[in-house]
Amino acid sequence: MPFAPPEKIVTIGEGQTILQQSSAVARYCGIDDGRLFLQYEGLNPSGSFKDNGMTAAVTHANMVGATQAACASTGNTSASLAIFGSCTNWLEVIVFVGSGKIAYGKLSQALDYGAKTIQLLGDFDDAMQRVREVCAQAGIYLCNSLNPFRLEGQKAIIYRVLESLAWEPPDWIVVPGGNLGNCSAFGKALLELKDLGLIDRIPRLAVINAAGANTLHELYEQKGLRWNGGRPDVAVRDDYFGEMESAGRRAATLASAIEINRPVSLSKALRALDACDGVVREVSDQAILDGKAQVGAGGFGCEPASGASVAGAKLLREEGVIAPSDRVVCILTGHQLKDPNVTVAYHSGDADDFDRLLRARGVQEAAHANQPVVVENDLEKILEVVARFD
Ligand SMILES: *Cc1c(COP(=O)(O)O)cnc(C)c1O
Repeated sequence: MPFAPPEKIVTIGEGQTILQQSSAVARYCGIDDGRLFLQYEGLNPSGSFKDNGMTAAVTHANMVGATQAACASTGNTSASLAIFGSCTNWLEVIVFVGSGKIAYGKLSQALDYGAKTIQLLGDFDDAMQRVREVCAQAGIYLCNSLNPFRLEGQKAIIYRVLESLAWEPPDWIVVPGGNLGNCSAFGKALLELKDLGLIDRIPRLAVINAAGANTLHELYEQKGLRWNGGRPDVAVRDDYFGEMESAGRRAATLASAIEINRPVSLSKALRALDACDGVVREVSDQAILDGKAQVGAGGFGCEPASGASVAGAKLLREEGVIAPSDRVVCILTGHQLKDPNVTVAYHSGDADDFDRLLRARGVQEAAHANQPVVVENDLEKILEVVARFD
């Protein structure tokens, strides 16, 4: 039964995404052929999984008569909310992005879809704090994943994965972790499906942080923070954030969608990890970009943050946590076109771009680069180059 009356539902056709088996990515990860699947959430209308939850949040905004909605964003939440705003005639959208922290594909969407865009002189964590204050004081509807309707909508990703697998649960679901909304929604969806008797076992969940934004990894794997029946040891978390604050440590990764050090859904994510016998890993930007290049060469492609899923699956296979015969679903959260600067810097072989965009962030080499060949406008020379391809 829908939570909203039909005339209040706001949809842009989200959710028409697919699960694709990928032999190339399976080989890269060391997983048996036919056992690795990629869930392409970048095929949503705004190019990321965020539309799954935004439809529910904007529908709720409609039910309560909101006329303004806002979010803080590393890019994709703002792109999603902006497109929903542009498709309605009653919702003004205000987005807060960190200055210089947003990939161009995403910024271009917020601007093109007419969202009022605030480029805060700070990063995502700063923007998140401010948008909460602004929404509370100015009576604006908040569309970050603190909004429970977002997470309810994101459960649909799991329903589609299972539907594509004929409701035979995989062994693993691997997802990048940023604000931890997906991880939380996935755990809730799987628990509910098990309770309803629609699945007989819950897959294990692997959440992958970027090494430069690894709060969940540090708290869960290093400091042993657990859900603990709904009473996580908040002192462990608060001490960690305190240390981070006094050291002035900021999130830093090329995977800008997960460049977050203070995940708002941390507690809910602990519940999901508890329910799904979860693990958390951190991967380098190098591993993320190499994983992304594999998805591009063996499928529809993805944005950098999504490459963390593949890098994480590879790491867990190397560790022996994932077995070669396990059925593994990697969630690809965003579209290939979101961050062309990073992709071109990786592939093009342009030394200046590589140094400025990638080496400066710790990437040593583009191991899977597909370099364009520069050739004179001369038929003989072109034919020579073509003869060398194969
Ligand atoms: C938002 C986003 C993430 C992070 O998801 P969370 O639910 O915040 O953990 C990862 N990848 C992409 C492409 C995103 O847009």
